[in-house]
Amino acid sequence: MSKKKMVVLGAGYAGLRTIKGLQKKNMDLDITLINKNSYHYEATQLHEVAAGTNPGEKISFEVKDVIDANKVNFIQDEVTKINHEANEVSLKSGKTVSYDYLVVALGFESESFGIKGVDEFGWPLVDIKTAEAAKEQLDKNLKNYQLSKDPKDLSVVVCGAGFTSIEYLGEITNRLPKLADKFNFPANEVKITCIEAMPKLLPMFSENLADYGVDVLKKRGVDFIVGTPIKEIKESSVVYEQEGELKEIEASTIVWTTGVRGSSVIGESGFEERRGRVMVESDLTVPGQPNVFMIGDVSAVMDEESGRPYPTTAQIAMAQADHVVDTMERKLAGQEPTAFKYNSLGTVASLGNNDAIGHTMNKDFKGYIASVMKKGIADKSLLQVGTPSVLLKKGRFDFYH
Ligand SMILES: Cc1cc2nc3c(=O)[nH]c(=O)nc-3n(C[C@H](O)[C@H](O)[C@H](O)COP(=O)(O)OP(=O)(O)OC[C@H]3O[C@@H](n4cnc5c(N)ncnc54)[C@H](O)[C@@H]3O)c2cc1C
Repeated sequence: MSKKKMVVLGAGYAGLRTIKGLQKKNMDLDITLINKNSYHYEATQLHEVAAGTNPGEKISFEVKDVIDANKVNFIQDEVTKINHEANEVSLKSGKTVSYDYLVVALGFESESFGIKGVDEFGWPLVDIKTAEAAKEQLDKNLKNYQLSKDPKDLSVVVCGAGFTSIEYLGEITNRLPKLADKFNFPANEVKITCIEAMPKLLPMFSENLADYGVDVLKKRGVDFIVGTPIKEIKESSVVYEQEGELKEIEASTIVWTTGVRGSSVIGESGFEERRGRVMVESDLTVPGQPNVFMIGDVSAVMDEESGRPYPTTAQIAMAQADHVVDTMERKLAGQEPTAFKYNSLGTVASLGNNDAIGHTMNKDFKGYIASVMKKGIADKSLLQVGTPSVLLKKGRFDFYH
């Protein structure tokens, strides 16, 4: 009997971790991985590329360095549609790939929330290319100030104050003195503004940690405008609403980090979804499609305790991948799948290279110790999706800055 075909879409945290698990277990499957690039990137470190702290190569590695070519067939192509009735995936090249089992792990995209001008003038951080483009835009404007003397070239607006925004603000404020030297502009005239619709900053952390994080960034010059929904992004300004009045702030660099959604391929393929995410069954399959797993940022898993879906993170994406591998082992052995259970190990947000805030093991951490923890987490995930050699090449061992 020929082997069953298992196809994994996406080589992010969820997809690559699944592949690692499948190849390690030596399952009797014909395994294919499809990813748009030849490389995996650490999406959790994109803010470093956007701020110019690290180049794209530092946070990425080749997929072929992780997969065992004897066990996994790798196709570099872009998925355009999943035809679930025909059990087939369509690719940009025009090819189709059929499957018996499918793991959809296509990750996240930027969410514009339908706000005018976001797609034209906002710089999102969703992959290496967009993070590099945001860096180039920032560098270009800071450099241009020498000629233009236009204050908006020294003005940066970060839209949203979620996890990505805070980490980007930490990184960019850390780098500012170096950038001022490089491009010869007065660092004290740079204006960095963060605009957030919600009234509370960093709600995922305790008040103590949130205050610490906001304080650090304020001391480095960030101006927070909160409780103020953004209404429009223009070429060099952001329009927001404050106490019923529309206000406008000028900036040549506008970074759009208000939120993300799951891949648009999900909606285009006709899955029942909300913002590119499918509410999955307890075994992480799509309702009514027991051969299709949906994991990582394209899935929504209900947290029974809070009554809301868990936030989408790399941490849960990798835990889901492990569950898929376990389920496949059970399925092939003729056993029933078990329900996915998630225990979060906590959250740590960086505030630049040597400062951070975090909550783990029921304790709050801040400052240098939290920044060491953050680097340790990134190193651990390099091992979870990569190899010891990838860790040695790409890991973060600069603990003593
Ligand atoms: C700046 C930042 C900081 C973050 N910090 C943390 C953190 O500290 N901790 C944490 O747990 N999470 C963090 N996150 C969230 C985390 O990065 C995501 O939850 C995680 O990347 C989701 O993993 P994934 O495998 O589902 O998707 P992704 O990592 O997005 O991977 C998806 C993969 O699919 C590929 N792909 C996409 N579309 C196609 C297509 N059509 N065809 C073929 N291939 C395709 C992509 O190229 C990519 O390789 C952070 C996110 C950002 C942006």
